[in-house]
Amino acid sequence: STQIQLVSRPTGWPVPENFRTAVVELPALAAGEVRVSNEFLSVDPYMRGRMNDVRSYVPPFGLGEALTGGAVGRVLESAADGLAPGDVVVHQLGWRDVAQGPAAGFRKVAELPGVPLSAYLGVLGMTALTAWVGLREIAGLRAGDTVFVSGAAGAVGSMVGQIARLQGAGRVVGSAGSSEKVALLTSRYGFDAAFNYKDGDLPGQLEAAAPGGIDVYFDNVGGDHLEAALGAFNDGGRAALCGAISQYNSTEPAPGPRNMANIVTRGLSVRGFTVGNHTEHFPAFAAQMGEWLGRGDVVFDETVAEGLENTVEAFLSMLAGGNTGKMVVRL
Ligand code: NDP
Repeated sequence: STQIQLVSRPTGWPVPENFRTAVVELPALAAGEVRVSNEFLSVDPYMRGRMNDVRSYVPPFGLGEALTGGAVGRVLESAADGLAPGDVVVHQLGWRDVAQGPAAGFRKVAELPGVPLSAYLGVLGMTALTAWVGLREIAGLRAGDTVFVSGAAGAVGSMVGQIARLQGAGRVVGSAGSSEKVALLTSRYGFDAAFNYKDGDLPGQLEAAAPGGIDVYFDNVGGDHLEAALGAFNDGGRAALCGAISQYNSTEPAPGPRNMANIVTRGLSVRGFTVGNHTEHFPAFAAQMGEWLGRGDVVFDETVAEGLENTVEAFLSMLAGGNTGKMVVRL
């Protein structure tokens, strides 16, 4: 199996020298194990945090070990009940071409006509579930709410906007980092208004997009975006803190928003979450998303890199905004 290993911990932006490609020989299958040929690998922002040696909600990647992450593949060989060669499975042994381990780590999924297997890493998987949980369970979305989402053209953000609209939001606004992405938000994902944060003046642009203020903020970015949202909140507003990608490659702790007192004076609820603690919502999410996709109510985009050898580059490109929708690697 060819795998990508972490060999040193990045300071700031990761560089190719932090990684190496290694070929390892897999042992014969033990009882209860499966061997899987990976077809798509996920690259996700949280992986940057796991490259640091710090306490977090998932342990750091080990040096000299293969990285891990979401992947979807096909069973090559099985010594386990319930999985047979050809079955499609979703699992966590990404960053390699062939994965092997106990069957309990591999979830069998259906091959759906017209739907690429990569959908299980995005619109039918972790990132869309994050949008669903964050809006409904964490932000407590209510009919008529004005919703603002940052990172709106990414895997999570593009789902937040569409789910909010389908769940009765009154107005949905988003920010992203290019004029092409901003155009997609309103033309394809159904946002009512959108702006490019790289044009500056976030508070002013947010006010123009949501003149009546916001009720829900879904934060993928942190920093200046969170500060702008705190300034735009109506009384009783609710923020779901999902990520802070503007800070993942920072070498110094980022200053907090300067207007935290608005949380007090406007009676705001600000709550962080990680989707792994809310997986009990997966069945309801999957059923609803399947229906929406079938009706064409939800659309999704993927940015697809080709080949295991381009996985590091795909990861870095995603961190820099090179993706629209979910970034995946096709093997
Ligand atoms: P995306 O598909 O959104 O890709 C990352 C995007 O972040 C880039 O495309 C880029 O878009 C944007 N970005 C990068 N740097 C900055 C910056 N300095 N300021 C603003 N935007 C920036 O990734 P995901 O959808 O997978 O993840 C989105 C967020 O959700 C991340 O913060 C991630 O950590 C978080 N997350 C949290 C989970 C949880 O359980 N809490 C689960 C999954 C994701 P642009 O061109 O617009 O700059």
